[in-house]
Amino acid sequence: MVYETNSPEETFALARQLGEQAGPGTVYTLTGDLGVGKTVFAQGLASGLGIEEAINSPTFTIVQVYDEGRLPFYHFDVYRIGDIEEMDEIGYEDYFYGDGVCLVEWAELIEELLPKTRTELLIEKDLQKGFDYRRITLQEVTE
Ligand code: ADP
Ligand code: MG
Repeated sequence: MVYETNSPEETFALARQLGEQAGPGTVYTLTGDLGVGKTVFAQGLASGLGIEEAINSPTFTIVQVYDEGRLPFYHFDVYRIGDIEEMDEIGYEDYFYGDGVCLVEWAELIEELLPKTRTELLIEKDLQKGFDYRRITLQEVTE
């Protein structure tokens, strides 16, 4: 599925819709260059889950937990992971195979730990289509 947006508000709204529809145990991976809109997307997804507090990038912790919504929201940013064992230390399986909704940034760094069933999201710019244009590709994966 390919979506196109032309403003941060549109990306937020798309992510919000996904958040409204997400069922327990959904795992999203989110890939895209710096400044492409991953945080905007995360904020929209959280909003769709009914979370009102601010969503920031979980830079200094691997996972940030938000419990106030319709379902728990687990926001991962594994960019700074040194060793994959750090995922065991935080008990990642409880999140990936739990009843919440996971969003994993930099998921390619922990590829071997990802659930076989997940939804992959890719956000890309295309400057020929304008500075605010984003192509958002959603792909359901079952290995
Ligand atoms: P990332 O988390 O991927 O580094 P951010 O979400 O922090 O990126 O920033 C995205 C930036 O791009 C914001 O300044 C936002 O306003 C801008 N932007 C412009 N057009 C869009 C769009 N269509 N979708 C999302 N963000 C957009
Ligand atoms: Mg970000």
